[in-house]
Amino acid sequence: MRAERVRVHATEVGRRLLFADDPDPRVLQGVFFALLSLDYLLRSIDGTPIGLRTWPALGYALALVLTVATFVVPWRRLPRVAIGLVPVLDIAALSLARLDDRGSAAAALIIIPAVWLARLHGKRGAIVVCVAGLVLIGIPSVLYLGAGGVNLSRSLMVPFIAAWVALALASGLEKIEAGYADATKRRGELALAMHTIDEQRRFAEAILDTVDVGLVLLDHTGAYRTLNKRHVDFMRLAYPDGHSGTAGQLGHVYAPDGTTKLTREEMPTYRASHGEEFDDCRIWVGDDPLSKRALSVSARSVRGKDGSFAGAALAYKDVTDFMRALRVKDEFVASVSHELRTPLTSIMGYVDLLLERPDLVPEQTAHLEVVSRNSDRLRRLVADLLHSAQIDEGPMEVVRTEADFSTIVQQSVLTAAPGAKAASIRLDVDVPESLPVLVDAQRMSQVVDNLISNAVKYTPEGGRVRVALNVDGARVELAVSDTGIGISPPDLTRLFTRFFRARPAEELSIQGVGLGLSITKSIVESHGGRIEVDSEVGRGSVFRVRLPVDVHEAAIARAS
Ligand code: ADP
Repeated sequence: MRAERVRVHATEVGRRLLFADDPDPRVLQGVFFALLSLDYLLRSIDGTPIGLRTWPALGYALALVLTVATFVVPWRRLPRVAIGLVPVLDIAALSLARLDDRGSAAAALIIIPAVWLARLHGKRGAIVVCVAGLVLIGIPSVLYLGAGGVNLSRSLMVPFIAAWVALALASGLEKIEAGYADATKRRGELALAMHTIDEQRRFAEAILDTVDVGLVLLDHTGAYRTLNKRHVDFMRLAYPDGHSGTAGQLGHVYAPDGTTKLTREEMPTYRASHGEEFDDCRIWVGDDPLSKRALSVSARSVRGKDGSFAGAALAYKDVTDFMRALRVKDEFVASVSHELRTPLTSIMGYVDLLLERPDLVPEQTAHLEVVSRNSDRLRRLVADLLHSAQIDEGPMEVVRTEADFSTIVQQSVLTAAPGAKAASIRLDVDVPESLPVLVDAQRMSQVVDNLISNAVKYTPEGGRVRVALNVDGARVELAVSDTGIGISPPDLTRLFTRFFRARPAEELSIQGVGLGLSITKSIVESHGGRIEVDSEVGRGSVFRVRLPVDVHEAAIARAS
């Protein structure tokens, strides 16, 4: 950029020095006349004033007339050809000035008309110089001073040299003009490009400030490069005392529970500046309960051309209303579920009492069994709802006791067996004789129940469900596989979201509310474990629950 500016400047100076614009006839003619006068003065030192000799006097008069004319005539309004007559006549004046038998160097002054003509008419001007020089200087000289070798050389060399100088100047100026035009064009293009960039920058800024999402761009060192107005508002809440402009600064930034402060490593900007990409990372900013906001943060890495980490972009969406609505909903669901549980327990107790009566006719027993089955379904649904409302409250509390994982699995299989038999599904189980573990047995039963009942529910008649329990090196692994309808890849990513049901489940009218897997996942995770799924649409699915071995070892240690 700087080099370009220097180049343009240099071209401009050269252009002016070499009369790139139309030369001013008054300046050129003035210089010509002054030098001619000097020549006359110097030649007069030797004797008779040269101005008194006929031909030189005529030459001087012609030069004088031309000089006066350039000052008087409105030359700017005259065509170039008319102005070009002045230097040609100057050559004639020079020719007359030379017609003196004592000899003269006045011919050298032809350089001035030569430069002038080259400026006015380019290479054609050089030809005019050559022709005018030969005709106007050569012929009178030969006629007056004779055709001697010295005189011929003086008369002919001067026009040739002048023409050569004019030619060199004309082509040099042509190049400079072309360079100047090129530089002017480039300058124009550059100005246009700068204007476009500036306009785009202002457009981008306007867009960034219009969106209702806080946006931040970090560079590869974690320094804030850009942030929009919305994010400035969030920063004021999180950092009332100011921000250093570097990712990971601690402030009033809290975990989803709204009270636990995030550590440096947990801060979204810190994670993003270390190349992590994530979606819907929920945080609270601000310490005033009335003005604090809940934000959902997404981050994406920016990569350079060579794939290296160049920075990160973060988007902060205000989800305060949503979070508050969720909390209200969860509180509502929790209290309703509580209220439902008590009458339901009572209904189930009395139905069980009735079922024990010996005087029931078979029809009454059948009806009471329907009531019992549906009450049980209702109880499980209420328990699930209550459970799901507690998931957001943080990690689930688990009460670990010694339990036999094999027994837990076998009991779940027994519960699911009648349903599987009714749907002609083969239910295989492969568990060790006993597997003592330290778990929350009730909740772990819920995990196994959920997975087996799903496998049976989503497997068409005649299919197979297999439940296997293994100790795999460092962990206990429960695998529930089926030959059912399977799950599509996009659905797999949402499977553990509350109330999510895949489309086939709805289309086939398979009963469910989409809570089982989210609860299953939270139970497994609160035991320090993980749940994974492999599935193929139309072929079946495998759900694997892996629990850390220390659970198992602790149990063994206690048992021994
Ligand atoms: P529900 O079964 O009550 O709908 P879940 O949370 O247990 O809820 O399951 C969520 C969704 O995952 C189901 O609606 C179903 O679409 C899908 N799903 C779960 N288990 C299986 C399975 N074994 N095979 C196919 N789809 C399944």
